[in-house]
Amino acid sequence: MGKPQRKRERGSPDADADADAEIDPETEILPSKQMSSPVAAPLPLPQDDKDIMPLLQNLQFEARSSRDFAWYDIHTFLAHRATNAGELEVRVRYADFGADEDEWVNVKKAVRVRSIPLESSECMKVHAGDLVLCFREGSNEAVHYDAHVMKIERKLHDVRGCRCLFVVKYDHDNTEEKVHLSRLCRRPKF
Ligand SMILES: [Zn+2]
Repeated sequence: MGKPQRKRERGSPDADADADAEIDPETEILPSKQMSSPVAAPLPLPQDDKDIMPLLQNLQFEARSSRDFAWYDIHTFLAHRATNAGELEVRVRYADFGADEDEWVNVKKAVRVRSIPLESSECMKVHAGDLVLCFREGSNEAVHYDAHVMKIERKLHDVRGCRCLFVVKYDHDNTEEKVHLSRLCRRPKF
């Protein structure tokens, strides 16, 4: 997508300065996502490690663009249609993008509830084999891709939070990268 690079808001400052020492912290685009809105009504406690299902009107979604296979937050659903194969497609406006980036996406394959940014305290929730959304910054891209966790090097946490290293393999091109937790979002478990 030809784009303004998407910057997701994040609550806590990035703790990975030393891992990305070659990157000027002033210009680094932080991988981050907006936290979902707090749930207003009282709900039963989550079972095990399941997330509380947000009320329908509070659900936020992300879509995978067919242009670069990256996931972007959806701002608005604009229209829907059925394909010849009988599959539902929706036209979406991406958050922080204009109408020229609107896109038809397949509901079943390319629309889902937004991924959740991982906090330092949640590092033990990530396991080898997990599907995660990983922020990747290249020469002309800074986007979130689906990836699978291949290996985890657990480290002692310090004042900066999680220092563990996660070897991830991107689904769309099979490349591997070693990243810190702050680059990862997890999939909600309902
Ligand atoms: Zn950790």
